[in-house]
Amino acid sequence: MQYTQTFIQVGILAVVAFIGIGFTFALPTPRHHIKAKSVIYARWFLFSSWLVVAFQAVVQSGYEYIGLPGIYAAATVSGYMLLMSVNKRYGHEVAAVKKYAATAHVVLLFIATLALLLSQSQAWFAHALAISSTAFPVWLAQKRVGRYLSDETIGGRLLFSVLWFVMLMLLVVVPLYLGNVDPKSTYHLTATFALILVVMLTFMLAFAVNILQSILVKLHSLVHTDPLTGAKNRYFFYETAPKLSAHARRNNEVLSVVACDIDYFKSINDQHGHVVGDIALKRFCEIIQKQLRLEDTLIRMGGEEFLILSPGCDGDQAKQMAERLRATISETKITARDVSISLTASFGVIEMPDNADLLSAVKHADQALFDAKANGRNQVIVV
Ligand code: GH3
Ligand code: MG
Ligand code: MG
Repeated sequence: MQYTQTFIQVGILAVVAFIGIGFTFALPTPRHHIKAKSVIYARWFLFSSWLVVAFQAVVQSGYEYIGLPGIYAAATVSGYMLLMSVNKRYGHEVAAVKKYAATAHVVLLFIATLALLLSQSQAWFAHALAISSTAFPVWLAQKRVGRYLSDETIGGRLLFSVLWFVMLMLLVVVPLYLGNVDPKSTYHLTATFALILVVMLTFMLAFAVNILQSILVKLHSLVHTDPLTGAKNRYFFYETAPKLSAHARRNNEVLSVVACDIDYFKSINDQHGHVVGDIALKRFCEIIQKQLRLEDTLIRMGGEEFLILSPGCDGDQAKQMAERLRATISETKITARDVSISLTASFGVIEMPDNADLLSAVKHADQALFDAKANGRNQVIVV
């Protein structure tokens, strides 16, 4: 009866591990070369967690000398695999020396447990061995936690909870088992089974949510970014900019809008071709971004027309900023494919009136820009 129960538990966890591993193949693999490896370690984590109960079945079958050392080694490997997986998930490369140390640790633990069994040594020695040996992965894990705590996504938090739970298990459960738990007792077996099942399921959930969340964040930023220039795009303007202006109004903060259009850009294309035009456009944005504060947002509204949203800037300050941008652009030589290009741009500036909406402010900034063009270009006009 007891024998059958153990094998049912091993079977259930095998299915869970199998589904979990299959699931990681279905998840989109992160493109970053270190982060991509976290998936591989996640699979090994699931497999080695299953190995813990598989070795319990080995003990049940009478091969105690292989089964018991196997349980402790598999539990330690599982801790390391989880730690590696989380490390890689956050793009940390793990030093080779730590990997060798961990491998040596597991091998030594296996041999020491085997020797302990064969020599029938005392329980206190077993305790000391287990505590000192599980302390190493726990120490490695806690060194990283400070950085991980800054992760505020649900997936990230879940992942750290699993990491800490598993490390706690290593530190508390393994020594307990080594001294006090009878690996043949049904009660203890079921407790191990339940513990590992919960860890496996929570880990699968945490890992999947963590990966999907980071993809969503990336997608969100891609959707709002212009691929050529890296500036925000029109979609961002309609989606997020109104929130920016509402936020500024709520906080009684001024907000200025600067409209900008490159002068005679069509002639650059006509003279040097579209590829050079594209490079010039890209460089133009880099020059502007360098001059802006972190709070300012550069938006490519289309073609070579841009908006700059400047929270905390009144009309005068925005005018100064636009004037500085205008001067820098006209003084900077842009080289694209061995062609040297001089650009100028025209600017329309408005400080958003208290109860105006963003769209009408932009309309007025555009009107000022139009006036700057009509006035001869390469200048700033304030509404
Ligand atoms: P001005 O604004 O001073 O009146 O003259 P302009 O020549 O810049 O006139 P306009 O703004 O009407 O023309 C914009 C030109 O910008 C049209 C197109 O050839 C060029 N353009 C727009 N988007 C791109 C782009 O993504 N890449 C390249 N290479 N050119 C672009
Ligand atoms: Mg233009
Ligand atoms: Mg234009």
